[in-house]
Amino acid sequence: MSAGLVNAIYLGAAILFILALSGLSSNENARRGNLYGMLGMGLAIIATVFSDAVTSYWVILVCMAAGSVLGIVLARRVRMTQMPQLVALLHSLVGLAAVSVGYATYLDPELHFSGAEKTIHDIEVYLGIYIGAMTFSGSVIAFGKLSAMITSRPVLLPARHLINLIMLIIVIIYAVIFINAPTLSDAYTPLIIMTIIALIFGVHMVIAIGGADMPVVISMLNSYSGWAAAATGFMLANDLLIVTGALVGSSGAILSYIMCRAMNRNFFSVISGGFGTSKKASSSSSAIVGESVATSVEEVAMFLSSAKKVMIVPGYGMAMAQAQRAVSDVSRILMGKGVNVIFGIHPVAGRMPGHMNVLLAEAKVPYDVVFEMDEVNDDFPNVDVTLVIGANDTVNPAALDDPGSPISGMPVLEVWKSKMTVVLKRSMATGYAGVDNPLFYKENTRMLFGDAKTNMDELVKALS
Ligand code: NDP
Repeated sequence: MSAGLVNAIYLGAAILFILALSGLSSNENARRGNLYGMLGMGLAIIATVFSDAVTSYWVILVCMAAGSVLGIVLARRVRMTQMPQLVALLHSLVGLAAVSVGYATYLDPELHFSGAEKTIHDIEVYLGIYIGAMTFSGSVIAFGKLSAMITSRPVLLPARHLINLIMLIIVIIYAVIFINAPTLSDAYTPLIIMTIIALIFGVHMVIAIGGADMPVVISMLNSYSGWAAAATGFMLANDLLIVTGALVGSSGAILSYIMCRAMNRNFFSVISGGFGTSKKASSSSSAIVGESVATSVEEVAMFLSSAKKVMIVPGYGMAMAQAQRAVSDVSRILMGKGVNVIFGIHPVAGRMPGHMNVLLAEAKVPYDVVFEMDEVNDDFPNVDVTLVIGANDTVNPAALDDPGSPISGMPVLEVWKSKMTVVLKRSMATGYAGVDNPLFYKENTRMLFGDAKTNMDELVKALS
């Protein structure tokens, strides 16, 4: 395939990637966005495989076959609740690829640069390997934390900021030595030392982050993996990789920012780690008063049948219980009885942005009854019954009332303002942030204990 045709296909693929991102910004267009992305990636692979740069096909075929089998098995096996750790694992592969390409390009005997061109190429290699190694080790630790293989609590070394600063200074000094190295063998030592430091830096950065901040870390690593891919694109002089890397890098950074804002957390305080230690230890500064009142499925069915307006607020527990279909059935039965049913979604409900929207769409809940937090928060006084299904932190009034709470300042769904709130969960346990929830003790709150799916299935029977 001629270089001109390859570039034309790359351009088409880049446009498809941009259309994919814009499609993914709304529920209605997400499926189309995914199709654009798949088409773009298919075109990019075909153009690359048939370009003049590829001289032997069997290695590529073997790798593609192995990758495809692995991808299909993962896509079939991995549950929605395991997506964050899968994403972390996939990011680690992008980082590893950037490191491998960096070393391979540097050692390529056919590449000869001199003067400013050599300096630029050396910087690309150095940066690519640095970002790649950091992304690799950071993602492996994130995977370990999210899959509970290592503690999810922040592990904080004494003087950790000083350690990071010293590592950064060493990396900069070795960058200068690497770029000015007179021979290839002189350049190995700084490159290898920098790689080891970058690997340690990735581990150190992610291991210090814990609690509810982990999903932000995933999206930050997503951003890093994009920049690692862009750096690889520069090394290989591949325009599409540069564009795609920049798209992933910037969208990951924007997503991290949106998540931080939704949790009222400062991005730099997330990155510097430590969430869930000092503040969490003090927990709620204002003691919780009152007693929780348990209810039964029959009683909830009665409340719902006599309600005019019902709000359903799902959270991580709905995903864990896989209760979305039963929830959808309950909403459909109530709508059939003339009840006005709407869904209120917190931006960080679940474990990744859009988590609840995906589950509800899968359960065929119509998009036009699903609203974002800001759209419904003023509506609660008009709601007769709010059903909180496995949500906890995202409906915690302490975020607004208790300045000493670790989640203080995080905007939450103000469910307690509705006439009655029914909370479905298995126990009085805390949510992801580990904070007690005064909502469970309010006068107008009823607790429906048990697995959310079992209870929703029972509710379907009781209502029909
Ligand atoms: P939480 O993690 O606060 O609470 C989930 C609740 O679900 C638990 O209290 C648990 O209680 C209950 N639960 C678990 N399994 C079941 C089950 N089978 N049946 C019924 N209930 C169950 O969830 P939220 O969605 O409210 O909050 C999300 C958290 O994740 C927030 O802290 C948020 O900051 C954080 N986060 C999310 C991000 C995102 O992008 N979505 C990003 C960053 C952070 P019990 O054990 O008693 O059943």
